[in-house]
Amino acid sequence: MTDKKKKVVIIGGGITGLSAAFYLQKEIQENNLQAESFLIEASPRLGGKIQTVHKDGFIIERGPDSFLERKVSAPQFVKDVGLASELVNNATGRSYVLVGDRLHPIPAGAVMGIPTQILPFVTTGLFSILGKARAAGDFILPAKRDTGDQSLGHFFRRRLGNEVVENLIEPLLSGIYAGDIDKLSLMSTFPQFHKVEQDHRSLILGMKKGLPASNQKHEPARKKGIFQTVKGGLQSLVDAAESKLDDTKILKGVKVESIVKKNAGYILRLSNGEMIEADSVIITTPHQQTANMLPDKENYQYMQEMPSTSVATVAMAFPEEAVDIEGNGTGFVISRNGDYTITACTWTHRKWPHTVPAGKALIRAYVGKAGDQAIVEQPDHEIISAVLEDLNKIMKIDKKPEFTVVSRWKEAMPQYNVGHQEEILEVKTKIMNSYPGMFLAGASYSGVGIPDCIDQGKMAAANALEYLKK
Ligand code: FAD
Repeated sequence: MTDKKKKVVIIGGGITGLSAAFYLQKEIQENNLQAESFLIEASPRLGGKIQTVHKDGFIIERGPDSFLERKVSAPQFVKDVGLASELVNNATGRSYVLVGDRLHPIPAGAVMGIPTQILPFVTTGLFSILGKARAAGDFILPAKRDTGDQSLGHFFRRRLGNEVVENLIEPLLSGIYAGDIDKLSLMSTFPQFHKVEQDHRSLILGMKKGLPASNQKHEPARKKGIFQTVKGGLQSLVDAAESKLDDTKILKGVKVESIVKKNAGYILRLSNGEMIEADSVIITTPHQQTANMLPDKENYQYMQEMPSTSVATVAMAFPEEAVDIEGNGTGFVISRNGDYTITACTWTHRKWPHTVPAGKALIRAYVGKAGDQAIVEQPDHEIISAVLEDLNKIMKIDKKPEFTVVSRWKEAMPQYNVGHQEEILEVKTKIMNSYPGMFLAGASYSGVGIPDCIDQGKMAAANALEYLKK
């Protein structure tokens, strides 16, 4: 790097942009690099899809509510921004799947719906005898030796049969992506399942072998759940990260409208009429917006056409005695074949007790899924009444909610359909060749979960600094 400070501009202040900015600044400060960083965010606040509402003693997440603890980049980021003491795991309890009009406990030992213990699968009421017999086919079916991508639906139907897919795997996996299991790419979402088939042939036996020894000995369930959040809500992670960005120039309420290449760098045109120069650019906005910033957007057709699903979350507060919940349940997902608007529901006061005042219950339902997103466009009162109608069919609720928070997320869940990985590789290669020093990161590319976004932000920051060294 020369004596003149090089400028890195990060576009988009969601969790990807924030983590890129944080780790970029850290490297610059720790190594005394001749570089400076800018973060430009279109809305008046940072956090993107992370948004927490505090109301009447409740902590309500409008978007994501937690992250997987085992994906270490998220807990590490929480620690790096100084919130280690705020980390909290979810309380464990039973999760259910609604099939027909009945809540069935998810069989013990099901890993993303794949059986790893035989007895709970044999005894569950979730599948017919024929469905169970078909799933047992996994023990003898040969592995399919191909390297190409396939849909999650195709893969699991082949190994375990339609019934296990429709009644358990589909509601669990589609819930994460709000996607269609028969379109979602195996290699871009859960490549580990492909590897299990290649290594062990049987998914059931392979998954069982891969479990930690404690699970295999059927030890009592762990008291801590596998998810974590921060006690004050995920917005406090955003706020803590922002407060650490003392050497980063942050522009909020300003949109990047276009980027043009100039000599060895770039000029960004902003919505406030200003121009800003950059030696390197990290773009963390959703893919459609990203493509629109590029002068040759017609070369990035995949980014323009890749679909995203609209969803909404509906949080409802009740007096605790007004809602009747199964056992120690923490929530349920719904098979898409049922006649319900909601796709999943968390009994939040059970899963995250610290977010709810004593004596209260908080129910958070999700609506909107691939192929059926019209509900998200409805006015609040229509969404609320559809959710309440569904909830009343499933559980006993005696009173009206004390208040409700509806949060719409339009085109918010990028769909990693079959072939996604190769398409993204092609996009990134084109960007690398046409726009050296420009890096794409975020939920549209290599993982939608918060930890995946943090990994991508951190990697983009490292790539930008590496590029500037040249
Ligand atoms: P975003 O959060 O979308 O940030 C992009 C930012 O770019 C936005 O702030 C936007 O305003 C800004 N921007 C857009 N255009 C421009 C422009 N032209 N110029 C400047 N800025 C611009 N993940 C989990 O791990 N756990 C969960 O529990 C979970 N639940 C979820 C629930 C819901 C309802 C949703 C919608 C998602 C959930 N996810 C969850 C996924 C996860 O929240 C997201 O994938 C992740 O937050 C995306 O972060 P990002 O920074 O890539 O994008």
